Amino acid sequence: MKDLLNRYLFDNIPVRGELVQASNAYQEIIANHNYPIPVQHLLGELLVATSMLTALLKFEGTIAVQLQGDGPMPLAVVNGNDQQELRGVARVTGDITTGDLVELFGGKGYMVISITPKKGERYQGIVALDHPTLAQCLEAYFLQSEQLKTHFWLKADHQHAAGIMIQALPEDQDQIAATNDDYSHLQQLTATIKAEELFELTANDILNRLYHQEKIRIFEPQPLTYHCGCSRERSASAIISIGRVEAEDVLAEQGNIEMHCDYCNTKYLFNTGDVAQLFNDPAKNDNQVH
Ligand SMILES: [Zn+2]
Repeated sequence: MKDLLNRYLFDNIPVRGELVQASNAYQEIIANHNYPIPVQHLLGELLVATSMLTALLKFEGTIAVQLQGDGPMPLAVVNGNDQQELRGVARVTGDITTGDLVELFGGKGYMVISITPKKGERYQGIVALDHPTLAQCLEAYFLQSEQLKTHFWLKADHQHAAGIMIQALPEDQDQIAATNDDYSHLQQLTATIKAEELFELTANDILNRLYHQEKIRIFEPQPLTYHCGCSRERSASAIISIGRVEAEDVLAEQGNIEMHCDYCNTKYLFNTGDVAQLFNDPAKNDNQVH
């Protein structure tokens, strides 16, 4: 099954929704990391949520959704862009015995949503990680920051990551009372979704099952892919930015410079000749015997 972001609208109720299935990208993110199971699941949920936010917050550019705190899991982050290219990483420093966000992030954790549009101002939103699930923290975020009633159902197991969400659209005051009942009804319907259904069924099947009495409009799905974006060139610019003196110190100490990508676990090695070339020293380059 493909990784897809689906968006939909109800014809007669001012509510929009999104459904994300991201199992392949999820597999790539957790591969080669040996994360404890609750950490894997949280990264899966965060991946799905970031894809949803990318479409909900509507921008052209990049997004980072970062969970941080001082518990046994000080950091989890997923980066993405409006092309739905995503990557993620977590840092684990202690024993993980729970998937409860409050405990994982030490009780004082917070979520930072950063959006860097291609044009215009950078935007940052922050919400406390004071609920046990990511879904609840996101719901609190939308209520606080946008005054929009929003609900998320995020699911992950060892293989799959998927989720569904609904959000009440802003509207006239006199419509709000009627809409509240309709919204609650849709919330109850959506809450009946099972993890296996989100993992196994197609988006159309899921939406038809959940909302078969409603009229909904489903937009063209957008493919979602894992993309790290690290490269030897980027590692080289990082070495250039630390400066020649520091780079040569590392070389003297360690023989070569190893740049490691925490996201995809790729190592980029630079030896003395490589580094000399970076700082454009032809003399040293010539000394290098091949
Ligand atoms: Zn990488």
